[in-house]
Amino acid sequence: MSDPDSNQCKGCSASVRHPFAEIEAQMPEYIQTIDPADRVSDEVYRRRLEACHACPALYYESTCMYCGCYIRMRALRSNKDCPCPEKSRWNAY
Ligand code: SF4
Repeated sequence: MSDPDSNQCKGCSASVRHPFAEIEAQMPEYIQTIDPADRVSDEVYRRRLEACHACPALYYESTCMYCGCYIRMRALRSNKDCPCPEKSRWNAY
C-alpha cells in the first residue's frame, strides 16, 4: 500500500488532475446515472465527505490516495466504503 506521505496518488498524475470546480460541475449529471436506491442519504453523504476532508489521504481536495476515486462520486454510492487500510473512516455512517 502506498505511503500517504509520499504525495503520490494511485492512478493519477498532474496531467489528469481536475480542478475541484470542474468535478462539482459534473456532479449533477453523474448523480443521474446512479439509481436512487444505490445512493446514500444526504446526511450520510455529508458525513462521509466531512471524514474525507479531515483525512490525510485526500489529495487535491478531490481524490482519495488509496483508491484513486473522486471522493464526491465514491461517497455517494451506498455499496462503496472508505478504502483506508487501517479502518474505514466512514464506518460510523
Ligand atoms: S475515502 Fe477514506 S481514505 Fe479516502 S480520502 Fe476519504 S476518508 Fe480518506
